[in-house]
Formats: sequence, C-alpha cells, structure tokens
Amino acid sequence: MRAGLGLVPGGACPRSTAAGIRELEGTEKRVRSDDGMTLEQAGFPIDDQQLVAFTQALIRCQSWNPPGDETGVAALVAQQLEGFGLEVEIDPLGPSRHNVTGRLRGGGAGQGGLLLAGHLDTVPPGDGPWSHDPLGGRLEDGRIYGRGAADMKGGLAAMVFAAGALARSGLELPGNLLVAGTVGEEVDCRGAQALLEKGWLEGVGAIAIPEPTGVELCIAHKGALWLRVETQGRAAHGARPDLGVNAILRMADVIRDMVAVEWDAPPHPLLGRPTLNVATILGGTKTNMVPDRCELTVDIRTLPQQSHGSVLAQLEGILRNLGSADGEAPAVLEVLNDRAGLSTPADHPFVETAQKVGRALWGRRMMVRGAPYYTDGSVLGPGTGLPVILLGPGEVGQAHQTDEWVSTEALSQAARFYAALAAHWLTD
Ligand SMILES: [Zn+2]
Repeated sequence: MRAGLGLVPGGACPRSTAAGIRELEGTEKRVRSDDGMTLEQAGFPIDDQQLVAFTQALIRCQSWNPPGDETGVAALVAQQLEGFGLEVEIDPLGPSRHNVTGRLRGGGAGQGGLLLAGHLDTVPPGDGPWSHDPLGGRLEDGRIYGRGAADMKGGLAAMVFAAGALARSGLELPGNLLVAGTVGEEVDCRGAQALLEKGWLEGVGAIAIPEPTGVELCIAHKGALWLRVETQGRAAHGARPDLGVNAILRMADVIRDMVAVEWDAPPHPLLGRPTLNVATILGGTKTNMVPDRCELTVDIRTLPQQSHGSVLAQLEGILRNLGSADGEAPAVLEVLNDRAGLSTPADHPFVETAQKVGRALWGRRMMVRGAPYYTDGSVLGPGTGLPVILLGPGEVGQAHQTDEWVSTEALSQAARFYAALAAHWLTD
C-alpha cells in the first residue's frame, strides 16, 4: 500500500494485499482511442482473470461487520483504482473505518455524473458449517466461494474494473464517473451517510449499486424499520400468578395484534406488501416467578411510499389499546433502525439507459424488478431525489448464506454492464 493514501493493510488480510498490488503493477494500457472513436469501436478492456483474482483478494481480506473493520478492503480498492489511473481519495470515518472514492473526470458538462457505490463490509460468516473457507476465495467450477462473494465483493470488483476499463479506453466522456466503496452498510450505512453529508454527491445525476441481483435490473427496494418493544408487569410468586401481572402474557397480546395489523398502504407493483418478522424475545427470570418484564424485537420491511411515521402511529395505537385493557402502562416502543425504501420510476431516463445497455450487451429486454432487502440506496436515493438502480453479479439467494458464492460469468457480465452504462449515461 502506498503511504500517500494514508492506509496500511489490516493484519486480517495477509494473503491478499501483496498479490493484489503485484497484479496492479503488471497491468498495462492496451486500448488507446483515436479522435472520433465511437463507444462501440473503443470497446472496454476487462481482463476477466484479473477481475476474478481481484474478487478473490477482496474475499480473503476480512471485513466482517460487526465488528466493522474495512481497512484492508479499502486499501485494496484504493490500490486497484489508482493503478487504473483514477483520482483516489480515502475518507477516514473512525478507527479502521475508511470510505474510498475514485474519480474519473469528464471533459465537460453532462447531465450529471454517475456514482457507482458498493459497500466494503460483509456480515460475519455465521455458525456454518462452511465446506469452503469463508476467507478462502476458492475458485471451483466457475464459482468463487467466500463470505461477501455475492454481497458484495463480487459487485465491488465489477464496478472497480468497469471504471478501470473506461479509464483505459481513452474515451473522452463529458460527465464525471465516481466510484465509492462505503463502510458499514451491514449495520448502520455510515459510509453512505458520510458520502451524502460530505458533499460527494454534488454533480452526481444517477446512482448504481452492485448489490446481488443475479445481473437483473432492480429499481425499487423495501425500507426497514427495526423496533424494540418492552412490556412491564408486576412480579409475584409463581404459585400466586393472580397477585402479579405477567409481562410475557402482555407481550403475547402485543405479538398477536402486531402480526395481524392491516397496513395503511396499497401493494407496490414490484415489491408487493410490507412484512413483519418477530425476531427475538426475552422475558422472565425464574420458573417459579411471574415475569415483570419482556422484550421483543421486530423487523418490519416497508414499502417506499409508506411513511415510517404512519407505521409507528399504527403500532402505537395497538400498544395503547392493550395498555388500557388491564390498567397497566402501555408497552414501550423504541426505533432501532430506520431505513427508507427506494423506488425509481420505470420510465426514468437512467432506467431506460440501463435497459438500452442490457439490450445491446445481451440482446434481451431487461424487465424491472424490486428487491426485498434495503441497501445504501436508502440513504443515497430518497434524500437526494436521484435515480438509483441495483444490478450485481451475486444471486439474491446467496447473500448472508453459508458457502456464499458468485459466478465468474456473472462477474464478467456485471463489469461490462457497468462500463457500458457509464459510457452511455455520461455521453448521451
Ligand atoms: Zn449488500
């Protein structure tokens, strides 16, 4: 890692960094444009073997969140972008937390630049058992295995190589291309929040996020509202439940009414209906006591048009009713996580550009879809009004799974899609 970038590779990725740097040093500019060369003539030089090797290097570099340490991955991304000739900046957001950005400056005013944004962190590997080392990046039968392969180190690699291909094509693009690796998406989206707050989106006209979609085009995703609910009761001897108030039984009523709630929102054409998952429950201290406290967490996945204020108002109404039924204080509701849903209009020019690129590359019409999970798009889209699409090489069903993988064919497709998307969006 070069000292000028202010990062040292984390001790967590001893196998990957040196190899990644060697690969960078070996790359050469292979395509030079002549004046007047069209996008099609220029082509996009992407070395699939290097793309695979870079994805493996990213997987071998641990960035499990929690606890959250993206230093090594940020260093690898920075190194690769710099090797491709982009202007690279590191933005420290705390100990071991660094956003990384790479910029390819355009030659004139466009309709707004393009931001390719991918997160650097992954969820931990979980309890397994894995049949492939989650930090191994093993390549077998056209699949690369490891934590983050699909979500979303494969996507991260594809966008970095797309930017590299554009840089090396020598094309003069009117608009700016910005590539960003963000920290913390799996916990609090703090990297995306920092992009927004520190002005990185100035001049950006559209955003693409390589979350796992199986190389399909997603233009909408659900929001999330995670809640903690607490009921209070009154302790008593287990042999005299009539003298106490059972906090677990009060919670049972809360759960019954919450799961039966009719949301004030019509179904979304791509996302269907909101969902509510009762996720954890904790209550009681001893078998021979009436429990005086119970705590629940709930994961609600909302629709983009659904205001979270109205969701909370509906739930607070349920809790008020239950509280007044037996004269006890209403249950307490606390918001743990609040992420907006995302919905880009299907006829937005950015979506049409993405479809045009898909047709040119694969000769098929890309149907627009919705995703049930939320992404950094929750922070970058609704707050700015910018159009956001999701398209990544990982399969949706692979995210957060044991033996997670990404296919090398999808990697190669996603990288070419992003190169062509940027070329068309920044030119048209
Ligand atoms: Zn993700």
